[in-house]
Amino acid sequence: MRLLTEDRIRLMLRKYGVRPDRTLGQSFLVDPGVAREIVRSAQLDKETSVLEIGGGIGILSEMIARVAGSVHVVEVDSRLAEALREVLGTYSNVDVIEGDALEVDLPDVNRIVSNLPYSISSAITFRLMNEVSFDFAVLMYQKEFAHRLLAEPGMQHYSRLSVDAQYLTEFQHIMDVPAQMFYPVPAVDSVVVRMEPRKAGRFARNQDVFFWLVHGIYSYPNKQLRKALGIWLKNMGEDKSTGDIIIESVSDTLRGNERLRTLNQDKLITLADAVLDLIEEGMLGGPRGVEE
Ligand code: SAM
Repeated sequence: MRLLTEDRIRLMLRKYGVRPDRTLGQSFLVDPGVAREIVRSAQLDKETSVLEIGGGIGILSEMIARVAGSVHVVEVDSRLAEALREVLGTYSNVDVIEGDALEVDLPDVNRIVSNLPYSISSAITFRLMNEVSFDFAVLMYQKEFAHRLLAEPGMQHYSRLSVDAQYLTEFQHIMDVPAQMFYPVPAVDSVVVRMEPRKAGRFARNQDVFFWLVHGIYSYPNKQLRKALGIWLKNMGEDKSTGDIIIESVSDTLRGNERLRTLNQDKLITLADAVLDLIEEGMLGGPRGVEE
């Protein structure tokens, strides 16, 4: 395999007239060792189909094509899509999809393997979680974003993103990747994580209510639960005492003075189920579709 050294990447970019665009997250992996470790972590074989978001000039795509059954590579930049068609031209198992990964149809696959464009980290992650069927994914993110995906309750990086993402999927740290492993060198380091749809554990009785509640109260992650619930309910024009009723109904699991950031998934699910009870009893309006 021709290794895509930094010099070769420079030449390829010049050949295809690509000036790396930061807004498209165009930093290309130059370390084949990192690429190999990502592909190894994906546990591919000739029975596996793979989706890659943001093929760039194909360092990952080519390694994947060698070991997987098929690979669908999405690339928004038409010059890079052309480069990919050339670099991967000898592989009959590669399908280059030219377009925006947030808009094009994405196939169901066995694995997703990507050095993601950081500009769309959040949107593409939730699109993959909600719209693509896959066994597990190996994804590279900007460090801070990965830390939020991996954070546990009470940790500094634990945020609404952590709660939302961990409700749908489980994350595992694979490796840290320093910024120097890319050309051009980005401002931040990266982290590779494994993401797998969550099957075990408890789920809310109504997922829409869970996300509606979390989005409402997590605007105030450092506030105590009672206070955050009160503000959210007031903003929706609901009676303030509804917050006390909710807290009272979950008092064997939760206390009103617990800080939101410290609440684990199980407690938030308990809370969402209590909110659903009130909606079903007609004491609280719900997200669209739930109250009817
Ligand atoms: N896979 C290559 C690598 O590891 O060197 C490139 C990774 S680079 C971080 C991200 C790639 O995603 C760039 O090639 C960029 O053009 C592409 N990209 C950016 N936004 C995109 C989008 N919305 N849809 C598809 N590809 C996108």
